[in-house]
Amino acid sequence: MNINNLLRKNIQTLKPYSSARDEYTGEAMVFLDANENPFNEPYNRYPDPLQNELKEKISELKNIPAKNIFLGNGSDEPIDLLIRAFCEPGVDNIVTINPTYGMYQVAADISGVELRKVSLNNNFDLDVTNILDATNKNTKLIFLCSPNNPTGNSLNKNAILEIVKSFNGIVIIDEAYIDFAPDKSFLSELNRYQNLVILQTFSKAWGMAGIRLGMAFASTEIVDVLNKIKYPYNINILTQQKALELLEQKDKVGNWVKLIIAEREKMAELLKEFPFVVKIYPSDANFLLVKMHDAKGIYDYLVEKGIIVRDRSNVHLCENSLRITIGSPKENNLLITVMENLI
Ligand code: PMP
Repeated sequence: MNINNLLRKNIQTLKPYSSARDEYTGEAMVFLDANENPFNEPYNRYPDPLQNELKEKISELKNIPAKNIFLGNGSDEPIDLLIRAFCEPGVDNIVTINPTYGMYQVAADISGVELRKVSLNNNFDLDVTNILDATNKNTKLIFLCSPNNPTGNSLNKNAILEIVKSFNGIVIIDEAYIDFAPDKSFLSELNRYQNLVILQTFSKAWGMAGIRLGMAFASTEIVDVLNKIKYPYNINILTQQKALELLEQKDKVGNWVKLIIAEREKMAELLKEFPFVVKIYPSDANFLLVKMHDAKGIYDYLVEKGIIVRDRSNVHLCENSLRITIGSPKENNLLITVMENLI
């Protein structure tokens, strides 16, 4: 597959902005090339545009070469950049599952790109034929999300692989919640498929939604395109520093994940006892999708008690369902206590 041929024509020929830090990358005694203020070290300096130190650390952690890593302002950034790089507004289209994470639709809408939704089946799983049937010669991207938001389940691995193998465009697997899942990441497949992009994030298991750091893992052809069209200094110094700090504390993150998974299982057991709960869907993520008799009523009651969950009742296949994030043991116990007062 020739990635270049899939790109929009203006991106194929784009001459990217060349910053001072792109043009001179080595050490020096005095930097007078970027119109920076000489005071207020180190924040007076522009950050490394390619975040090389951070990528080396992530490379060690994920066992993926740094040249196959793109870092973005959350994984929302690569979602947007992939659409802008590959999809000609008003001409090309994207295929995704339904229901799924809402930003694929929003990013497509902002770019004026058609998004075709293919319903999951009643088990919230993927039908390969339906996905491929929804594509045409103008389909450039397929977004899959596993574990999926808001359903919480992992999609069938073989079905995903079949799509990656059969589709003549880019397949993006959004693994924002992979650290909470028993399944292995698709990262181990990365070097086999030039059209595969895997998204992960520091916002969930790593507990750093506030610093905005997302990762896209892909072939060098795709990573180079994303680097070409991103804002020159998309990851600020504070974010790079904080992420480097946390990467030294992997054990702490591993313990958070274990605790959140244990709490998820505990909450599933406790919630299913309530008479107003119809069903707890199996979850490989850090939230539970819970079908209720009266989701809106429960939602309003919880708001009144100061507890905010997400009402997903208007989402396809999620009628009368609340999405409940797994909190700390104290927060989860409070939710249960407040719900007990309802019966
Ligand atoms: N993908 C999925 C499936 C998500 O649920 C979210 C956040 N809710 C994101 C991506 C965005 O993550 P980030 O904070 O890295 O932009």
